Amino acid sequence: MKILFMSKRSKWGIVLILLSLILFISLLFPSITSELSLPIFDYIKSTLVLLIVGVALIIPEISYCLLPIESLWKRWEITNNSEDQKRRMLRALLDKLTLIKIDKKFRYAKYAGSTGGTYITTLNGCTCMDFLKRRVPCKHMYKLAIELGAFEPSDDLKIAAQRIADSGDYYEDFY
Ligand SMILES: [Zn+2]
Repeated sequence: MKILFMSKRSKWGIVLILLSLILFISLLFPSITSELSLPIFDYIKSTLVLLIVGVALIIPEISYCLLPIESLWKRWEITNNSEDQKRRMLRALLDKLTLIKIDKKFRYAKYAGSTGGTYITTLNGCTCMDFLKRRVPCKHMYKLAIELGAFEPSDDLKIAAQRIADSGDYYEDFY
């Protein structure tokens, strides 16, 4: 359920579903509906509209939790071969990212940012500046994808990361 409260869209979805439930319950008490003197059909119509719109708003979050993890990550495959992205994969392997929480069931993680904020990361996106600017996976997303088993770094990449770590001259000056 937690992931359902993460986006504004799904919060609205839940509000609409609750409103439809309230309307539905009031239908069970004819004294309330007769006082408002609207045709019963209008109540049923409003209840259904609220329910349908509410469910439509939370479907993306629910499908995110239920779809196979590989199919969620597939959308990024095309970006994974660029040199820029390989550097981010290296950072995911080398940087000491401060993980606050990882929820494997709902497929998201929280990282502490270097400037004091908190980033919320899913396989679809991240709240860090790097992702918000470029709209392709950031180091947090790669780290989460590795943790969830959605992404396996190539042997070349692992060797490169090991070499950099062994050389001891790694410093975090690039994205
Ligand atoms: Zn990020």
